[in-house]
Amino acid sequence: MTDFTPTRAAGDALMAEFIPRMGRRYANGRNTDHGPGAQKAVSVLSPYIRRRLVLEQDAVAAALAAHGPEDAEKFVQEVIWRGYFKGWLERRPQVWASYRSGLNADLAALDRDRRMRRDVDRAMTGQTGLECFDAWATELVDTGYLHNHARMWFASIWIFTLGLPWRLGADFFYRHLLDGDAASNTLGWRWVAGLHTRGKPYPADAQNIATFTAGRFTPRRSDLAEVTQGLEATEPDGLPSVQPLRSLNAPLPGQPTALLITDEDCRVEDFNLAALDIRSVATLIASHLRSPLPLSDLVSDFEAGALADAILRVGAEPMQLQAGDPAALAKWATAAGATQIATPYITQGPLRDWLDEAAPSLALAGITLCEWRRDWDAAIWPHATAGFFKVKQNIPRILEQVLRA
Ligand SMILES: Cc1cc2nc3c(=O)[nH]c(=O)nc-3n(C[C@H](O)[C@H](O)[C@H](O)COP(=O)(O)OP(=O)(O)OC[C@H]3O[C@@H](n4cnc5c(N)ncnc54)[C@H](O)[C@@H]3O)c2cc1C
Repeated sequence: MTDFTPTRAAGDALMAEFIPRMGRRYANGRNTDHGPGAQKAVSVLSPYIRRRLVLEQDAVAAALAAHGPEDAEKFVQEVIWRGYFKGWLERRPQVWASYRSGLNADLAALDRDRRMRRDVDRAMTGQTGLECFDAWATELVDTGYLHNHARMWFASIWIFTLGLPWRLGADFFYRHLLDGDAASNTLGWRWVAGLHTRGKPYPADAQNIATFTAGRFTPRRSDLAEVTQGLEATEPDGLPSVQPLRSLNAPLPGQPTALLITDEDCRVEDFNLAALDIRSVATLIASHLRSPLPLSDLVSDFEAGALADAILRVGAEPMQLQAGDPAALAKWATAAGATQIATPYITQGPLRDWLDEAAPSLALAGITLCEWRRDWDAAIWPHATAGFFKVKQNIPRILEQVLRA
């Protein structure tokens, strides 16, 4: 089993070990899923990258330095997919809002539809009788990780073979994935369903599964639905319009400041903390906001460990907040004598929703929420308005902008 220790040092070590495999070996082998604890061709860095215990730009710079632009191209592109999805959701926040309301409706419908509830329960507990699917459901729950190809097959079978609501599958992933991320997960599911690249659903194919699981699974063709169309008819209005990027308040030097660390970005030491008059530092436990249903213990343990590691690195007294009553944020900052809260940028997702709920009490207390946006995000997001191709075309410019900074 892969040992996911939730620290920056463990992420750095994992990355260093993978550098020799970021070139051609990655490009040629990355589609093969070798199974739990046996991934050789992919990095398994996602729980670290998700929380910025490892930075995308460091992974990309290491790949380029070791292998050169041609051989590292595929790895670099995959890392940039994450930034693309994050930027895409920033620019279409309506898609996140409709996922949340649609999920609530799907969960409510389960209370009325006993057959659907039974089918969903069987899918989540690995009891459908389809060997590969059942093994991936178990692997996800037991390890908190699935290979990218397994995520695609699983989502496709969930939607098209089992005919289950896609948001319930996305929620199952989100509650269990150590790397669970509002953008990559929601948009990954939407992509498989044919809602992202509209009209192009991803069909799980029996031969493809046999080949890319190195023969571990050999489903019959007849086990899997033939996918002739995606779910685009369920969203007849198409994609919502692209919004401008949200404007933000930068932390002001010299102001009494409360420093907030969340698992959106656990490397606050990268920012200019010395310029701030820091009165209090707190970590915020928030992963339970991912879903109305209970979160996997693996995810909450990883989050708690990552936050503990983050606060150690800034050398502050551990102080822990829990994202419950949103008014608690203003109370903490006020008690510390702060007039601003500084935190790395919080992207679209459950934590952003919670901070939006906290906004009135912060305003009432005269506290400004200030965010740092990383150069990496600022370089990718302006291009994340349509398909990945637009970002891909701009990769040389993005890298120029970020790696020289
Ligand atoms: C249905 C579905 C749900 C997904 N949910 C998530 C999620 O919640 N969180 C998440 O981080 N990724 C998600 N992904 C994307 C991808 O599967 C994982 O990022 C990848 O499998 C992580 O494994 P790795 O670190 O070994 O990847 P590697 O292949 O080693 O890639 C290196 C890094 O690049 C990024 N990356 C690679 N592929 C993708 C991709 N397709 N999309 C976005 N980023 C990518 C990740 O940060 C990854 O750690 C999802 C994909 C699908 C199809």
